[in-house]
Amino acid sequence: MIAPGATIGIVGGGQLGRMLSVAASQLGYKCHIFDPHEQPCAADVAARHTRAAFDDLGELERFAAAVDVATYEFENLPVEPLGILGGKLRPGLKSLAVAQDRLHEKQFIESSGGRVAPWRAVASLDDVRAAVAELGLPVVLKTRRYGYDGKGQAWIRAGEEAESAWLAIGEEPAVAEAGVDFEAEFSVILARSADGAQLFWESPHNEHRDGILRRSTVPAGETISAQVEEARRAAHGIADALGHVGVLTVEFFAGSGGPLVNEIAPRVHNSGHWTIEGAVTSQFEQHVRAICGLPLGTTALTGRNVMMDNLIGEQVEAWPELVADSAAHVHLYGKGEARPGRKMGHVTRVAR
Ligand code: AMP
Repeated sequence: MIAPGATIGIVGGGQLGRMLSVAASQLGYKCHIFDPHEQPCAADVAARHTRAAFDDLGELERFAAAVDVATYEFENLPVEPLGILGGKLRPGLKSLAVAQDRLHEKQFIESSGGRVAPWRAVASLDDVRAAVAELGLPVVLKTRRYGYDGKGQAWIRAGEEAESAWLAIGEEPAVAEAGVDFEAEFSVILARSADGAQLFWESPHNEHRDGILRRSTVPAGETISAQVEEARRAAHGIADALGHVGVLTVEFFAGSGGPLVNEIAPRVHNSGHWTIEGAVTSQFEQHVRAICGLPLGTTALTGRNVMMDNLIGEQVEAWPELVADSAAHVHLYGKGEARPGRKMGHVTRVAR
């Protein structure tokens, strides 16, 4: 067990690292952020910040020596350099490697018992055309690597769009995925401890616009509830197969044929922000508990209904009205410039 007072290293300094640091500090831990930016928003609330590139081996070695346990808050990280962290890294490199490459991710999901939308690996325009012929329209192209919040994606809704979509994703190795005619999207958020115990939170209904999460709501409603048990079985199998330690999020489409996995995030997730006020133990505290070997906390709801809205880009300018609303729990990430599409904060409302 890593006792309170110890230092937790967090690779990545965005809002997830920030909220992890806040939760860790409540339990008496110190956090050390590793991030190349000058002043990442997690560093504002952490004991220490190393400013270095994610593949700076010398700095990673010093970081490894300075922390008692380490974790990561996003998955677009070079895998090999993080090997320096050895057994201190939780979750391990396998979770990171699988989740950052959509091709490996899909193969892994299928091999551990989950179902995904029909897909093909593509590496050329000819491959894209062949995939469209086999899968039918519409098809979405997603780069194997470095995609998030709908980036690195292009839809093909008519045959002649194959070329423009291939160009739009930068002619990068990709997967071509059949468009799913889903009724709703949801996620399974779980925590797994080193001894293999797993706990789930209530699954939220997730609403996206332009590929970005806008709102998460629990309870999720009937269509989703009817599919949660099967989805949990798939997520449980994935977490075990990864030997995952910490919080793991699996995003699903709820369609007429049952739950299909969209993607895995080997970490705390935007669709779990509601757990800060809406669950007895938040995803952030639970992640800290899991990676430090503390007992997992209960995931029970604190109210009848919980709704989390993201503040994207200039939506953050509504903060004066939001902080004046006594029912709103306002979280601002301290990021400065409110660029379009940038996640600036979120607001949670719990109906008790
Ligand atoms: P992703 O980055 O893969 O999570 O995709 C972002 C969003 O795009 C998802 O949450 C869906 O709303 C939509 N999307 C992605 N893939 C598909 C698909 N195969 N069929 C329908 N919608 C999709």
